Amino acid sequence: MIVFVVNCGSSSIKYQLFDMADESVLAKGLLERIGTRGAKLRHSSNSPADGAGEQERTVRAPDHTGGLKLILDVLVDPRSGVLASIDEIDGVGHRVVHGGEAVTASARIDSGLIKVIERNCDLAPLHNPANLAGIKAAMTGIGHAVHVAVFDTAFLATLPPRAHRYAVPTEWYTKHHVRRYGFHGTSHRYVTLAAAKLLGKPADKVNLITVHLGNGCSMTAVAGGAAVDHSMGMTPLEGLVMGTRCGDIDPAVVMYMLSRGLSARDIDDILNKQSGLLGLSELSNDMRDLLKAIQDGNQKAALAVDVFVYRAVKYIGAYYTILPPLDAVVLTGGIGENSVPIRRRICQGLARLGAVADEDRNARTVGGQAGPITADGSPLAVWVVPTNEELMIARDTAEIAAAPGT
Ligand code: ADP
Repeated sequence: MIVFVVNCGSSSIKYQLFDMADESVLAKGLLERIGTRGAKLRHSSNSPADGAGEQERTVRAPDHTGGLKLILDVLVDPRSGVLASIDEIDGVGHRVVHGGEAVTASARIDSGLIKVIERNCDLAPLHNPANLAGIKAAMTGIGHAVHVAVFDTAFLATLPPRAHRYAVPTEWYTKHHVRRYGFHGTSHRYVTLAAAKLLGKPADKVNLITVHLGNGCSMTAVAGGAAVDHSMGMTPLEGLVMGTRCGDIDPAVVMYMLSRGLSARDIDDILNKQSGLLGLSELSNDMRDLLKAIQDGNQKAALAVDVFVYRAVKYIGAYYTILPPLDAVVLTGGIGENSVPIRRRICQGLARLGAVADEDRNARTVGGQAGPITADGSPLAVWVVPTNEELMIARDTAEIAAAPGT
């Protein structure tokens, strides 16, 4: 079965084409700056044609429909394509950010599900409209295939009310849908399943704290394989310190800064795009830049990383207390999978909970490797498990496309 995975942003389409027989990636790429003159396609594939493996070129992509057509043309290019025809695509998996309260799992896209995604545009105004544009373009361009929506929020639908409700007037919830939804759910589900396998436990018996540390950062408390708490909130702004998002702050700060002359739009932009590691360091949102700057004696970079690690450790401590006996803390995302110094500091922070760091394992487990970074017999195990959201989407799509009656 051939599955095409699509992740649409407001001006971008990220894609991967999988052969589900062995879950290999036949091609992948990114089309950026859709709707501008500088639209650019970066594409790589396992095509044997000379020079076809990697390509990067400026293209004409006026909208998502035009952009998708261009990508499909590259996939079936007679010289360098990886498919003989678009008809070979059996399923298309769409990343959709917000499914609201109603959606608890991936599902085949029909007019009813499109309405649900439309209804949730208010809750994810930057993402859901772009996801819908991608769905409509793909349902036109690859009309014969089964289309499946995989929601960022779905894995977090099991959060009990005590974890997902905010202590605000009830009407804010019943009338305005104000609650914690959580995000990054596809990543947390993938690493939960992968960690259960690595730990030799059934997926519905594993107790974990999954920690996604990338540009966006989030943490999930997992009991018996299901999410019971999560750090992101009604929007992805809450919780951990991120590349450019502030994470937890006192909500009164917003009113205070309004009174200091900033507009609501300014504050929204600043808390989402100019805060976090970037805001504290005044240097970069990229952890690698900050670690290098610290070596050069940069104090603001040191503080940014300090706040980042402290917040992550504090959250792990909180989740430790609400979970049944833990099988492991699982680190993932660009920082979790690669940053030896940050992982060392997190393990040091967890020493009181029993984490006994293993420096060799920490140094070895990078670049897509999975494994423990604590010593054998450590009372608290810390593991690195690389995430793969695209593969999770492809697996869900293949399963739904293969189901009887589909
Ligand atoms: P996104 O959330 O955008 O998918 P990633 O998961 O790729 O982002 O994570 C990006 C972060 O991972 C950046 O802060 C980057 O510095 C960090 N990162 C990636 N590789 C390394 C590395 N080798 N050492 C330290 N940090 C790394």
